[in-house]
Amino acid sequence: MSEFPDAASRPDSASTPGGTGPENAADRSTDTGSKDRRGTRSIGGRRLAPESLMMTWGYRPELSEGALKSPIFQTSTFVFNSAEEGKAFFEVAYGLREKAADETLGLIYSRLNNPDLEILEDRLAVWDDAEDAAVFESGMGAIATTAFTFLRPGMSLVFSEPVYGGTQYLFTNILPEFGIRTHSFRASDGKAGMEVAVEAAAAEGPIGLIHLETPANPTNHLVDIRHAAELARRHSTEEHRVRVAVDNTFLGPVFQNPLGLGADLVIYSLTKYVGGHSDVIAGACLGSAELIGQVKGSRTFFGSMAGPWTGWLLMRSLETLKLRMTRQSESATEIADWLLEHPKVTRVYYPGHLEEGDPDWEVYRAQCTAPGGMVSFDVDGGEAEAFRVLNALKLVKLAVSLGGTESLAQHPATMTHSDIPPEEQVEMGILPSMVRLSVGVEDPEDLKADLAQALERV
Ligand SMILES: *Cc1c(COP(=O)(O)O)cnc(C)c1O
Repeated sequence: MSEFPDAASRPDSASTPGGTGPENAADRSTDTGSKDRRGTRSIGGRRLAPESLMMTWGYRPELSEGALKSPIFQTSTFVFNSAEEGKAFFEVAYGLREKAADETLGLIYSRLNNPDLEILEDRLAVWDDAEDAAVFESGMGAIATTAFTFLRPGMSLVFSEPVYGGTQYLFTNILPEFGIRTHSFRASDGKAGMEVAVEAAAAEGPIGLIHLETPANPTNHLVDIRHAAELARRHSTEEHRVRVAVDNTFLGPVFQNPLGLGADLVIYSLTKYVGGHSDVIAGACLGSAELIGQVKGSRTFFGSMAGPWTGWLLMRSLETLKLRMTRQSESATEIADWLLEHPKVTRVYYPGHLEEGDPDWEVYRAQCTAPGGMVSFDVDGGEAEAFRVLNALKLVKLAVSLGGTESLAQHPATMTHSDIPPEEQVEMGILPSMVRLSVGVEDPEDLKADLAQALERV
């Protein structure tokens, strides 16, 4: 909210004067290539794809001794050239005056900004065509900071279920203690279920935020982002805008871009596909310069920003993001098709299997460009049979988390979703026989061989 200064946005990050980041840079393209402070965004009128920009965008070697790669700026604070410069930086950081058109907010202190975070934020923004991004030390840091930025006592939060366990806990146990009302709807209840929850919330007072997670974990049900944006518009007034946030961890940013579908904010656990190597915890929130300015204001005072080492690791990961996610989605499709035919498997939950006539099929076609790397399936039996499969896997590791280069399997009913009461689990479609698989970059034939020998134990 406006009481928070726009602490960490620098014109060279995304809010280029007179424009809005990537698109604006592309608009200015000429045949010799468009150039802005962050690099070359288009060549010969051709707008470069995100994967082409991940090695260079936002980094200027001449500021770092010519180093090809960005150094890790492992420093807590930055030296001002003069007291006058320090004063000017703080005036902008604390919103004491407007930035001049050509002014760059200087580096002050690593809780506000750090080169590794700023370059990473520029690069993340490219994928979602966002004006700005804010990076956090965890996905939960991003979700909690965003919630506390847009919700106030007396407001409602509407959210889809199932959501990530940590999100569920924050929304149902912590936010109500701060006077925030929460209303949820089942992803499987479609547009109608969403409408009922939004209307019930609106009847009680202003809605601060609609938070969606799609595809829903672990059932892969889809939530209609455009419909949520439409409902938010319907309940917005001049003074109060209802914001829609989408947790895009499962398919984004490569296969789903919620901002283009009308969402205001996109949230990630970067720990998963973006980090992609199961070795770092991080999160992000992206959107317009105005909204991310508010989120960054909260981040400065909550202290939930990521450190430079995390930023550097994620920049390395972004270089191979599309390669990894494409391979993972292709392998998952192969494995999901194979599971469908397997006699010990009673059901497969995979967006790639949606058929015309299923309400999720329309949603899939409108908002996803590939089915992704997450496959859930029911084994013939219950918990005991699912456990037998999990215990027999050799190449696939038994662990929670997802999106890494290695394949992981787990049991949602007793692990990631164990704090949901069993009756509710069943209503949401989370059965004791369900196994959730995150497909990695291994040879898919090797993965099938491992699954085949494990399924023999059923
Ligand atoms: C893991 C996850 C989170 C939480 O992210 P952390 O980085 O573990 O804090 C949030 N949402 C989804 C969908 C996730 O998978």
